[in-house]
Amino acid sequence: MDMKVVKFGGSSLADAEHFRRVAEIVKSDPSRHYVVASAPGKRSSSDTKVTDMLYQCYEKVRNREDITEIFGAIAERYNSIIRELGLDFDIGGELDYIKNAILHHSGRDFAASRGEYLNSLILAKYLGFAFLDAESAVFFRENGSFDEEKTNEELRAELATRPYAVIPGFYGVMPNGTIKTFSRGGSDITGSIVARAAEASLYENWTDVSGFLTADPRVVKNPRPIRTVTYRELRELSYMGATVLHEDAIFPVRNAGIPINIRNTNEPDAEGTMIVSATGEYDPETVITGIAGKRGLSVITIEKDMMNAEIGFGRRVLEVLEENDISFEHLPSGVDTMSVVVSTAALDDRRERVLTAIQRAVRPDSVVTEDGLALLAVVGRGMVKSKGTAARVFGAISGAGVNIRMIDQGSSELNIIVGVEESDLNVAMNAIYREFVKK
Ligand code: ASP
Repeated sequence: MDMKVVKFGGSSLADAEHFRRVAEIVKSDPSRHYVVASAPGKRSSSDTKVTDMLYQCYEKVRNREDITEIFGAIAERYNSIIRELGLDFDIGGELDYIKNAILHHSGRDFAASRGEYLNSLILAKYLGFAFLDAESAVFFRENGSFDEEKTNEELRAELATRPYAVIPGFYGVMPNGTIKTFSRGGSDITGSIVARAAEASLYENWTDVSGFLTADPRVVKNPRPIRTVTYRELRELSYMGATVLHEDAIFPVRNAGIPINIRNTNEPDAEGTMIVSATGEYDPETVITGIAGKRGLSVITIEKDMMNAEIGFGRRVLEVLEENDISFEHLPSGVDTMSVVVSTAALDDRRERVLTAIQRAVRPDSVVTEDGLALLAVVGRGMVKSKGTAARVFGAISGAGVNIRMIDQGSSELNIIVGVEESDLNVAMNAIYREFVKK
């Protein structure tokens, strides 16, 4: 049976006009049974998200400041939606209760969660769907981790009694009954959890872009959207900085074999991006799926004669990083050199300590750090099957006059990672885009 779970992000539910679009989308396909809603997002670039306003309320109460004005502005966001939709719905009682609870220190997460709670109440009313509070269906453990199995069981039972429902995203409940949220952007996670519990055939994630793009639009002009991406490719691209979807939203549906379709509420006819578990298919003309870049990196280069014969060398270097709470991004190595790529921000305030500790741990011939490195990842499942991709990548970069400082290809042949000077990153990305995507 066709059954879809649809999640709408904050910008898709920012005002009455967007509510109308959302209702049109939901109602145009009866297989869209469950709707997960975010809190109202920005209506323009200078606007403030309701979630941020709720965090401000919480902070003000802590600082013993008055919240009348800011809470009034939040109330007006919701009331204007209700008014403009012509809904016969009074949320005055809910608003009073919430304001009081925030004034009486009901917690930061409780305050933040009310954004999705109220929006979902209104959306349920507007759609004529049941309202299923995440408080009775999404569970966290005592230690704050998400309780996947309990949630799946209880949520499934709750959904079974409601053929069509709206569920607020972003939050759930602790064993002691208090509200806890996921990290920011967490409504994506709720959508994924609901899709799994509903055994959906598809999880549609509606946002304000038509899916993932082959490259960052701030770097490449009008990049082409990606039609199909596998979960593994997506991990590579998001790790390198491409964001549309909360990272943790991938796991529940991935394990259940449910594809995700990223769609654009403002352009509902666009097909968006399909995220699937596996597909051998790829566009032979493009070969690659996407290009991503990451700035702000440093390389620690360690040299020592006969390093390759010294057992435990790598482990001792990595232990130093671990002790200093630095995670490494990449580890390209030669016979007598080992390079560790780390974030400059993580290294900065403990650079001397780290270098001294490496000296002590492995007695190298030299150890130096260099900043200003950027990594560029060319990702694509098609690379395994097509010859000459690496040569084309390097050719494009050198053709653009950019010096390659480092090369790293994963053995899965899913990506080729190239290190370049930060100041060369945009030129290199555009060169690769032109080589593969648009000539
Ligand atoms: N409203 C929450 C946030 O702004 C969660 C979400 O939109 O997914 O982070």
